[in-house]
Amino acid sequence: MSENDCLFCKIVQGEVPAEIVREGERTVAFRDINPQAPTHVLVIPREHHPDAASAAAAGTGLVDEVTREAHEVAKAEGVDGTGYRLVFNTGSGAGQTVFHLHAHVLGGRGLNWPPG
Ligand code: 5GP
Repeated sequence: MSENDCLFCKIVQGEVPAEIVREGERTVAFRDINPQAPTHVLVIPREHHPDAASAAAAGTGLVDEVTREAHEVAKAEGVDGTGYRLVFNTGSGAGQTVFHLHAHVLGGRGLNWPPG
């Protein structure tokens, strides 16, 4: 998928509405449209990279930045104390459906392991 028809690029550009909870110079965090936990926020870079592995390989520093922002989201949501799950689905076989790097921040309920 190119950047032009990327859903999350459209959210960054304000062309698709989203409930934004935090904005950084290089990142945006917004609530997942289909939440799987009381807190389910997606943290994405403004810049388009298909997944965490490709952004890391490109030496962008964005995976670190997304991870730091995810922790700030967890603190703001009050789930940092009990713990939260940070998920980077990478590849369709792992459940990735939007090919723009994103971290799921999940918390506010008990989370089983292994995940489904
Ligand atoms: P993935 O399956 O790629 O790891 O995660 C993509 C996530 O994006 C899913 O959890 C899905 O619910 C969420 N999502 C898909 N479309 C939209 C949308 O238009 N707005 C928001 N806020 N989330 C979306």
